[in-house]
Parts: sequence; C-alpha cells; structure tokens
Amino acid sequence: MDEFDFINKVKPSKTYHKQVVVGIGDDAAVYKPTESFNQVICVDTMVEDVHFLKHLSSPKEIGYKALAVNLSDLAAMGAVPLYYLVSIAIPTTWTESELIELYLGMDELAELYQVDLIGGDTVSTSAKLIITVTVIGEVEAHVKTTRNSAKDGDIVFVTGTIGDSSAGLSVLLEEIDQIDPTIENYLINRHKKPTARIEVGRIISQLERASLNDISDGLASELNELSEASEIGIIINEEDLPISEELLSLHDRFDIKKWALFGGEDFELVGTTSQDAWEKLKHNCLECGISITKIGYVTKKHDNVLLRNKNDQVIELKKSGYNHFKGK
Ligand code: ADP
Ligand code: MG
Repeated sequence: MDEFDFINKVKPSKTYHKQVVVGIGDDAAVYKPTESFNQVICVDTMVEDVHFLKHLSSPKEIGYKALAVNLSDLAAMGAVPLYYLVSIAIPTTWTESELIELYLGMDELAELYQVDLIGGDTVSTSAKLIITVTVIGEVEAHVKTTRNSAKDGDIVFVTGTIGDSSAGLSVLLEEIDQIDPTIENYLINRHKKPTARIEVGRIISQLERASLNDISDGLASELNELSEASEIGIIINEEDLPISEELLSLHDRFDIKKWALFGGEDFELVGTTSQDAWEKLKHNCLECGISITKIGYVTKKHDNVLLRNKNDQVIELKKSGYNHFKGK
C-alpha cells in the first residue's frame, strides 16, 4: 500500500469550518481559533486486542468508537468539537479497504458533529493496529466544568442509562447467553456505538457552575474521581440509577447492578451542580428530549463515595471500575 495514495483516499473532500486555514496535505494543519473561546484538546489511543478485537467489531465500528471516545471527553468539558487528527500504525494484517472502512466509521460521526479531519500520521508496524485520535474543540472562556468544581449540597446527575455497554461486551465475549436477540442487539450496539453527549455538555456549560466527567471506567470510578478532585463526599441511591428497560429485563439472571456501577464505556456524563441549576438543567434537557437523572447528593465528608441500597443500607463504593492496567 502506498502511504501517499492512502492519505489522498482518506482526505475529506470538504471542510465544515472555514476557520481551517491549512488542512491535510502540508507539514501541519493551521486553524483560526474563535475569539474569547478557550481551545480544548484531548487524545485517546485504541490498540487492537486491548481495546477492540478485530473478529468482534467491523473496521467501521472501530473507527466510529475511536472518534466517539474522544468526543465524549470534549463533551465532559462542555466544548464544541471542531477538528480531529488521526495517527495510525498499520500492520500487514489490515487491508487498504479495511482501513478506508475505519475512516468511514469516523466520518459518520464527524459528519454528525461537523468535525473536520485536519491531519494525522501514517506508519507501519509489525505488531497490532494502533489508532490514536486527537480532537480539538472550543468552549467559551468563562466555562469550567472541571472535576474539582463540585460543592457540598450539589445534586449528582447522570445522563442516559448506565451499564448497557459492559453488558454488551459480555454478550460479545459470550460470557452471557440465551438472551432475546433484540435485547442482545441493543446492548451490543450500546457497546460498539456509544453516544458522545456533546449536546448535554453544551447545556451544562451554560450553567453557573457544574462539575462533569464522562463515564469511561464505570460510574463508581468517575464518582470517586469527582470526590477526590473536589475534596467532597458523594451519596447516591441505588434505586435512582438509570437502567435501560433492556438491561432491567436481565435482572433475574444477572448482576445488573455490577454493570451499572462498575461497567465501563457507557460514555454518558456524570456531574454535579447546585439545586437551583439542577432544576434548570432538568428542564433544558427535557425540552431537548435528553434523558438526565438525579442520583444523589454531594456531602461535606472528604473523599468518600457511598451507595444507599433498597434496604437503606449504606456501603462504600470504591473505584474498582474497569481499568486497562488491571486484567484485560
Ligand atoms: P510529514 O512527513 O510532513 O509529517 P506526512 O506525509 O506524514 O507529512 O503527511 C502528509 C499530510 O497528510 C499531512 O497533512 C498529515 O497531517 C496528513 N496525514 C498523514 N497521515 C494521515 C492519516 N493517517 N490520517 C489523516 N491525515 C494524515
Ligand atoms: Mg508525518
């Protein structure tokens, strides 16, 4: 495969943003930042056999997810995504058409959020495929949705439903079986094609104050991060956790609570804001048809995340979410 030929094939035929001064084809990309906005940038890497298995996901699904996980990080900063760059290490086991499919997966999401591919790097490797995506966005300079912004008395909220993605992974890995095919497809789709919560991130960015985190390593883990960074405690109610009907239907046979609390890759947003702002946030989400749920409160007690169960028992929630350095 010729590298230049490949770059030409993945080069977009149009740009969404006129602020792109120099796109793909030169030594570096150039864009004009918007006045009075901060630039927001993040990067994430996916490694074949660590973050995805080629026999379980199509190249298009892998590409989609590589961009989605980055968009999710920008969502958690309240930012609007604008540009992305892709660095790819290609082994001989991947054909050119599979690589084009990988880009088509990113393209699908890029079109949805109007994100311009403005550069990247292409190398070969004797090992497995590695794809690194960098996303650049912008947020109004006064906005700060950092993890250290939670305060005693805040409402803790979460978007969408949690646990679906890790249940979907368990289906894919054949750890669980004999499930209704419609439910199986729903869960697998939630794992392979997560929604980046850009719209909610933007709604939250307009609140006076909010802390925000995207759920990549599981709710328990993200809540602990908020608690550590803000030096506060959190108490959530098990009964208030938003669980999809599909996941709920499995509760007789499986420990769905484990998926909801510790299962990773939901890419929903979890955060905190004042009681007044919560009312506004709930209203704004309702108007946009976005599901958002209050799951608990921020407390003064430093560094402690607690879960109150149905029987009013309170247990401490440790991180123990999915962590790529432990196990898989
Ligand atoms: P250089 O040698 O100056 O780094 P390259 O040949 O690596 O140039 O890249 C040429 C152009 O193609 C640059 O604009 C670069 O950003 C872009 N590019 C290279 N690889 C990729 C890729 N995998 N995806 C998207 N753009 C790429
Ligand atoms: Mg290069």
